[in-house]
Amino acid sequence: MNRRVFLGSVGSIASLGTLAYATRDSLETLAVRIWLSEQAASYEGVIDRIFDYLENVLGFDHWTLELSVGGTVSVSTENAARLTTRGEWPMAVAAGELGQRNLEPVSDVNLLVTDGGMEEAPTGYGIPHIASVGGARQIAALEPFDELVDDDWVVPNTTPARTIQVLAHEIGHALGLEHDHGVAFRDGGAVIATPMLSSYAWDPTYDTDRSRCGTIRPSTDGLERKLSLAFSSCARRELE
Ligand SMILES: [Zn+2]
Repeated sequence: MNRRVFLGSVGSIASLGTLAYATRDSLETLAVRIWLSEQAASYEGVIDRIFDYLENVLGFDHWTLELSVGGTVSVSTENAARLTTRGEWPMAVAAGELGQRNLEPVSDVNLLVTDGGMEEAPTGYGIPHIASVGGARQIAALEPFDELVDDDWVVPNTTPARTIQVLAHEIGHALGLEHDHGVAFRDGGAVIATPMLSSYAWDPTYDTDRSRCGTIRPSTDGLERKLSLAFSSCARRELE
């Protein structure tokens, strides 16, 4: 998941950033469009559930959120990370942007959701304007936002809840956020990780102890692990 290495080594995809993304009407609109792989589309209610969560997770005062459905995409694999790292999804978006394919990208975030597994990392990937994530069946099984999320926006570290957090994480990357825009903090007997840090909070191989948000990652030894669906305040400042 080393995004810098990836962007540096795939020149043709890195140049995507120069494509005509300047068609936005106003900086105050955030356009997010969701596509499903054919297999992901076989689960009922995936788009509705994603919209339900994103309306909350991305619902800030400083922009008007425009969520839309792109359609169903035929893909060579359900491995969501691979679809972006190997260029299949970025090239599809680029072809759509150039009018060479029946696929209409939006200016901010073009997210592809597949039926990829959520147990083995990487489960998704995000580069500027483009992201992909697995877990369609997990999203279909997720409770509505208002039933799952408590007043502090904390959810248990279950696979469905983690899937929607990873979805928010990859959208964060598509909007320019990095892992160290995420934080982990202690709350009683639990450590809570925000979307951009996510499971890296308890990954011993993740080597940054201090986030650019200025907090130190607490040890999770013997503590319960929980997830927050709220971006850290410093990630929110960056988005603004
Ligand atoms: Zn990431």
